[in-house]
Amino acid sequence: MITIALSKGRIWEETAPLLQLAGIEAAENPEKSRRLIIGTNRPDVRLLILRATDVPTYVQHGAADMGIAGRDVLIEHGSENLYQPVDLQIARCRMMVAAHPAFDYQNAVRQGARIRVATKYLRIARDFFTERGVHVDLIKLYGSMELAPLVKLADVIVDLVSSGNTLKANGLVAVDDVMEISSLLIVNQASLKLKREKIQPMLDSFAQAAVATA
Ligand code: ATP
Ligand code: MG
Repeated sequence: MITIALSKGRIWEETAPLLQLAGIEAAENPEKSRRLIIGTNRPDVRLLILRATDVPTYVQHGAADMGIAGRDVLIEHGSENLYQPVDLQIARCRMMVAAHPAFDYQNAVRQGARIRVATKYLRIARDFFTERGVHVDLIKLYGSMELAPLVKLADVIVDLVSSGNTLKANGLVAVDDVMEISSLLIVNQASLKLKREKIQPMLDSFAQAAVATA
């Protein structure tokens, strides 16, 4: 049995076509089903439907053989025991620093001021500002980051941006670019060794599908 860990929402939307190109079709639509384990047209392949941030945990411990997770989630989680063979180029967006237009970010950086940063991505934010020698106080949030600068909880946020509509709707502007984000195929290292004959062809099909749909 090959177990693939996935999350609902945008990852599922963009993964379903890749699975199809790899010859795998879910027996039920995870968006509609309440089941957390979903079979496929292949008797030897099943899907686990998880919270996006839990996908690396299941794969790392071998409860899933492989999974699909955002680079943001992978960096925050760490990549111990995880092999990352294919960048699927799905769920693409950018990690950005955003602020209220009244906050002069460039000037604060130039002056060496301490900046208050609210984010769900502590590790990414810490590494980014440390590398630039910017002093920050990090404030951990779990969502709705755009609110933080509006009520002066923080000077800036570090968050994912795709269309920019959420920033715009809340009167924020992007002031710095942290990194490009996309979702990657991750594989448990022991699974890859023990189930290579089954897993390798799947990796190859995913790599081809990713190129075909990019
Ligand atoms: P939740 O939204 O339920 O709190 P989450 O944010 O972890 O959970 P999703 O919103 O489904 O889960 O995001 C899953 C992945 O999709 C993220 O880890 C990221 O890599 C990517 N992603 C997030 N936001 C965007 C976006 N606006 N555009 C494109 N990809 C995104
Ligand atoms: Mg989200």
